Amino acid sequence: MMKTITVLGSTGSIGTQALEVAREHEIGVKALAAHSNTKLLSEQVKEFGAEYACIFRDDKADELKEMLKDTDVKILTGMEGLKEIARLDGVDIMLNSVVGMVGLVPTLAAIDHGTDIALANKETLVAGGKLVIERAREKGVKIYPVDSEHSAIFQSLQGNSMNKIKSIILTASGGPFFGRTYDELKNVSAEQALKHPNWSMGNKITIDSATLMNKGLEFIEAMWLFDLSPEQIEIVVHRESVIHSAVEYCDNSVIAQLGVPDMKIPIQYALLYPLRTDCSVKHLSLTDYGRLTFAKPDFETFKCLKACIRAVTAGGILPAAVNGANEAAVAAFLSGRISFLGIGELVTEVLEKTENKEILSVEDILCADRAARSYVEERIIERRY
Ligand code: NDP
Ligand code: MG
Repeated sequence: MMKTITVLGSTGSIGTQALEVAREHEIGVKALAAHSNTKLLSEQVKEFGAEYACIFRDDKADELKEMLKDTDVKILTGMEGLKEIARLDGVDIMLNSVVGMVGLVPTLAAIDHGTDIALANKETLVAGGKLVIERAREKGVKIYPVDSEHSAIFQSLQGNSMNKIKSIILTASGGPFFGRTYDELKNVSAEQALKHPNWSMGNKITIDSATLMNKGLEFIEAMWLFDLSPEQIEIVVHRESVIHSAVEYCDNSVIAQLGVPDMKIPIQYALLYPLRTDCSVKHLSLTDYGRLTFAKPDFETFKCLKACIRAVTAGGILPAAVNGANEAAVAAFLSGRISFLGIGELVTEVLEKTENKEILSVEDILCADRAARSYVEERIIERRY
């Protein structure tokens, strides 16, 4: 076996693609975790011979036990279960591909245990970047980016020195509503927002891509992963999603990573690093594309993007607050409780209303997250967004 991994969020978009990579490259799988999809989780556990399975919702544990009754898989539940998986011995890499802030505590548990992490769960770094990066550095734990842009930056850094970076070009597809005015987005439905032009992803990140919150989260993620200041990151809308991001060095030479938009490339690179080997994705034909386009993002229409940059520039708990507000607002939009534009309004309102403070412990992050979510819930009840 090449390596042994665990996957948190194995039933999701990234998780299932990671298991395809595991299947293709005979990567060992020690443990898998999901939120509530017992059916797929039990099938995955059997196929990969995992020793541990965690289902977050404990009311689903009996169902999972029944499905796995012919095995001796250890079944875990809840946050304790995720933490136990994060602390297993004999694991080379833990892939964290759960969606949302819930990924923070297991990430910290893996770091404390000394397990390297392949990180898809960007909310972790947005909310707790300082704590996560400092602790990983202390423990000598590596964090390999899975997000395509950050993988592109990581790949463009190979063979070069971090201290020679001048800036980063973070590319953005622009999502389904690129070029629309604010007023034109008033009556956007969840169905329209869930139609991403280039990528097939989970619902939450697809909405984040439509509001450009996703690019804001990635801006913050890049700052932490590559030790950059906000001024060093330029966001460029690149509709074709072929150039996944680039690094500009001190000699003004720019190195980029290109490829078809398929998450299997960055997932595989993170799991098998430093090995570069065959990957079952389409060949990139630049002549099929013919032309690649570039534009500036619209910070006024896409308020979430601006809010993220303001939050990380101020620092402290504001990125956690903005992220928590967005998670609550996206859930409310998907369940038809608020409008599409309501997401940006609520995120901006939380940014402006939160009293900032320094992050001293994980509790400060969780507290800011909780406060932002309750604020959003209260405001939704008070008035229509
Ligand atoms: P999905 O919604 O497709 O999948 C989420 C996964 O997390 C599912 O397996 C889900 O389980 C699991 N999960 C959710 N909550 C919990 C919990 N509390 N405990 C255990 N498991 C949980 O999301 P994606 O795969 O699209 O995204 C995952 C992360 O990766 C996000 O942070 C996203 O921003 C990031 N990302 C995704 C990309 C993509 O292409 N999809 C690209 C770059 C980053 P269940 O199925 O049971 O609900
Ligand atoms: Mg991305």
